[in-house]
Amino acid sequence: MVDLILRGGRILDGAGNSDFPADIAVANGRIAALGALDGTEARETVDVSGLTIAPGFIDVHSHADALPFADEPVTAKLLQGVTTEVTGNCGQTPFPLNPATADRLRQTLGPYFSGLPYDWTRLKGYMDRLEEVGPLSNHAPLVGHNALRAAAMGYDNRPPTADELKTMQRLLAETLEDGAFGLSTGLIYTPGLFSKTDELIALAQVLRDSGRPYASHPRGETHNLFNSLAEAIRIGDQAGVSVQISHLKAAGQANFGRSDEILAAIEAGRDSGVEVTGDIYPYDVAGGRLASLLPPWCLEGGTPAALERLKAPSARAQVAQDIAAGLPGWVNNIEAATWDGVIVSSFVENAAYRGKSMQSIAEALAIEPAEAFCRVLLEEDGRPTTVLKMMYEQDVRKLISHPLVMIGSDAGITRGRPHPRVWGTYPRVLGHYSRDLGLFSLPEAVRKMTSFPAQKFGLFERGLVRPGLWADLVVFDPRTVRDMATLDDPEQAPIGIPHVLVNGTFAVRDGCYTGARAGKVLRA
Ligand SMILES: [Zn+2]
Repeated sequence: MVDLILRGGRILDGAGNSDFPADIAVANGRIAALGALDGTEARETVDVSGLTIAPGFIDVHSHADALPFADEPVTAKLLQGVTTEVTGNCGQTPFPLNPATADRLRQTLGPYFSGLPYDWTRLKGYMDRLEEVGPLSNHAPLVGHNALRAAAMGYDNRPPTADELKTMQRLLAETLEDGAFGLSTGLIYTPGLFSKTDELIALAQVLRDSGRPYASHPRGETHNLFNSLAEAIRIGDQAGVSVQISHLKAAGQANFGRSDEILAAIEAGRDSGVEVTGDIYPYDVAGGRLASLLPPWCLEGGTPAALERLKAPSARAQVAQDIAAGLPGWVNNIEAATWDGVIVSSFVENAAYRGKSMQSIAEALAIEPAEAFCRVLLEEDGRPTTVLKMMYEQDVRKLISHPLVMIGSDAGITRGRPHPRVWGTYPRVLGHYSRDLGLFSLPEAVRKMTSFPAQKFGLFERGLVRPGLWADLVVFDPRTVRDMATLDDPEQAPIGIPHVLVNGTFAVRDGCYTGARAGKVLRA
């Protein structure tokens, strides 16, 4: 007797193979059998004829670290078929914590992670708390370089001393021991942006024997894009570790059409022996924190220090000048997006700002856009996120089609006026990019979301439909699956994804969240 049979569907196994008809039996949370299961007795049988069954999607670029702690269950990902999230991306994790600097880390992580209790020091403590609240999907955390650096040396803009570097290496080793799936960096965020390459090589070396990857939000995605890719690949080469380039993009007009060169750099890295891959979200608009668009001198000490500085008119004038003229070595994303393309997104109290470009806010206030930018940050206590119009659709299409590129949402915030990727990433790849545009086959689309990420991040019991593996499964209709989230109306669940199972339990049934918290906290 098995717990469940899904009968009459077609299986896309996640390996990139064509689909085939088979029933699936589930027992004790795992896939028990596959094939014609007419003679098998089950507690429950669900008819899924006409539908496709794939492994649950693995979001390799998630910022859902704090979402299970929210008062209401956050279902945006689950409704898309995501059953496992690799969290801790872009260098940003709420662990490890050093009590001396924990407050500043908490303030700098800000509203992204505001629901967390922060009553741990190590990853193990965070995992215990996560298990208590019960995640909706499986969580596989990376450890963030920003947290390691903050714990060892605060938010100083300088290289670490030999002792501080040793402290970071020790904290990293402890975190890997607790089960972190790899190391992430976010080299445009404080304090990661204050680091140099040799510091990152010394840290990545700690990963070497574990086989776990180095995942990097590169130092820049605009004028220094190619240097930044080269830095990430060099770190992999020198440290002997696998590299993941996070949220691939060619940003800014100067990089328009240069996606081929990005892909060539990745291929060249592999030819030289570095296991380098990338992830992407299926949109030509980026997203992030508004405060991170400030010049680096203003961000020294973290966001609270930046807000303190911005109270002085002279500092605001300097910010305006630096944004207009640029600074050597600084990634000026406002230049790439232009003020028309900097949209105020979530976490704004003032409804007059929400969803508006900085250009239109400035016009409404009859002030310069740079002054409006500083005013919004000050009035809103540095909290807002932003959507940035700075990529080109033809580059997105080239990047997303490449076999070395997998899918990741880069989603964290789900409410307010979030980036549409939060609610739409996975169905958009299946419906828009695979079926409607025909950029790649449906089996390939599913591979990019399942076995490929599973292999990269060491999730060896997931990402395929195979007997013995965990029964993370998504049942969708390939003819109708579609994202409904738009820039103007982003909080929209997709259609065409009736059932999602996490560890053998229905988390979504007939398109509705069941209330299950069936996710597990995974340990590498
Ligand atoms: Zn990032």
